[in-house]
Amino acid sequence: MFYPSEKINLHTHSNYCDHAIGGIEDYVASAMASGLEVLGFTEHAPVAGDPISCNMMMHSLPSYVKDVRAAAEKYPLHIFMGGECDYEPILRNYYREELLEKNGFDYLLCSIHLYFDHEQRKMAFVSQSKDFSKYLSDYVARYCNSLESGLFLFGCHPDLFRASYLPWDENAKAAAKDIIQCAASLDIPLEINAAGLKKPQVNAPEGARCPYSTDEFFRMAKEEGVRIILSSDAHDPAIVADNSRGRAMAERLGIKPLGCTITEEGKLTL
Ligand SMILES: [Zn+2]
Ligand SMILES: [Zn+2]
Repeated sequence: MFYPSEKINLHTHSNYCDHAIGGIEDYVASAMASGLEVLGFTEHAPVAGDPISCNMMMHSLPSYVKDVRAAAEKYPLHIFMGGECDYEPILRNYYREELLEKNGFDYLLCSIHLYFDHEQRKMAFVSQSKDFSKYLSDYVARYCNSLESGLFLFGCHPDLFRASYLPWDENAKAAAKDIIQCAASLDIPLEINAAGLKKPQVNAPEGARCPYSTDEFFRMAKEEGVRIILSSDAHDPAIVADNSRGRAMAERLGIKPLGCTITEEGKLTL
């Protein structure tokens, strides 16, 4: 059965990561009250020896699996269990074997939130870099690697680099084009992320704009024929279905956002 974009949200957090509020059932209740019919939980997937703790803790994984599965049994809503994965090639087997195979995750999403800052000699957040120009090509390579891994249903906030690399210059356009052409050639959808649209604006040389989910990037994605999905990336149950800015953006750019299909066997496809 097909569910249109307005009825789905496949990128959702909960208090299983320590920067979100609300439990699994709070998100389900809000999703149902908002008229969603398909809800996918995608907690930041745990990683052993995590250098920065924005992910779910490894010891919480069994409880996350149990809570999401219990909610799926209990409520008249299609609930899927996923994970948002910060991709590194070394983690590829872990994501496949531990999450998809052993714990039965329904799907995974990829993101690149982190990079290795050579001067500070430590991992740091892409969105908080003071000068991302040195790391732009690394970001692009890792984003494309993640898409090429074949593990992910879609790519989250692909233009996150624009939060810290501000000009829309030849470098930014080349970075965008590489990611977009990679997604197009693999036919993996990219995401317009409502959380990015709600963040405080950044002062780019071309004027103030939201830090990520930018018109320039998604105009290019549309031109290259990439399929595009909208997500709330909610970290608060109250806004689990709030995608009004993403919808307005899609409309402005002439993008028809993806819905999803659930097969008779209960499998989710885009
Ligand atoms: Zn998060
Ligand atoms: Zn997220």
